[in-house]
Amino acid sequence: MAINWFPGHMHKARKEIKKVMPQMDLIIEVLDARIPFSSENPLVPALRGDTPLIKVLNKRDLADPEVTGQWQTWLEKERGVRAVTLTHNQRNEAMDILKLAEDMTPHHDRQKSALRVMILGIPNVGKSTLINTLAGRPAAKTGNEPAVTRAQQAIKLPHNILLYDTPGFLWPKLSPEACGYRLAITGAIRSAVLDFEDVALFEADFLLAAYPELVKARYGFEELPRDGLALMDGIATKRRFFSRGGVPDLHKVSEVLLNEFRAGTLGRISLETPAMVEREQREAEEA
Ligand code: GDP
Repeated sequence: MAINWFPGHMHKARKEIKKVMPQMDLIIEVLDARIPFSSENPLVPALRGDTPLIKVLNKRDLADPEVTGQWQTWLEKERGVRAVTLTHNQRNEAMDILKLAEDMTPHHDRQKSALRVMILGIPNVGKSTLINTLAGRPAAKTGNEPAVTRAQQAIKLPHNILLYDTPGFLWPKLSPEACGYRLAITGAIRSAVLDFEDVALFEADFLLAAYPELVKARYGFEELPRDGLALMDGIATKRRFFSRGGVPDLHKVSEVLLNEFRAGTLGRISLETPAMVEREQREAEEA
């Protein structure tokens, strides 16, 4: 399903979040652990003020554990926010987030009033899955329906916590350009915003540079192809993906690369590290 990048959607979400944010005691921002920077919503820093924030690096099962550790440290040290990791079907760990929320709001008297927690996240990070885990019932609709605007709903949780789902649709960062590509690789952006084969080529180049051994093992190369395009050609040859006339079918190769990444078939891979995004930000500032 294509995401509709209507400015109207964005404007509405900003307005509604701005309206409800001052009533919130704490924010839970769900991120994709494979792209903790690219999957941030650009509105959060601007609208949060002093409200305590927990970043949940979700889909930990798909991310490179070492890099996830780097992100946790970086977020806590550089950004001064709490960062926890999570994977679905871990209800105890999810409930620990609520305990952390209580610890981070020591002055809130929950005998008097409920702790109001807002949960937000760009599409596909696993926000609805987490809401359902916390609620212990299907309270939020899962699956890819990013453009659907849900009515504001509060969900009652244990310990007198009220969980507010974000009103409207939160769009992701689309710059620097690399963020857009990484979002597309994970499946967070599905539309024609970026060319499918360009996205796969970005992935191929990245995999060769960062996870050469996984590439070798998965696609059966003894020697590493020299670049992403050579990798894609190599996969076409090995799997006999040819179009009429014997031309390598790069669309088919792209499908394989993207689907296998998303399913975790290639192994546990993170698409960005703190060092990478710091370098990209410096380069963007200098440009
Ligand atoms: P939302 O758009 O952020 O509300 O995301 P959903 O909760 O609908 O989840 C998007 C997709 O990611 C679904 O297919 C989920 O089953 C899947 N998902 C959610 N959490 C995890 C996780 O921790 N690990 C993995 N591997 N998949 C997850």
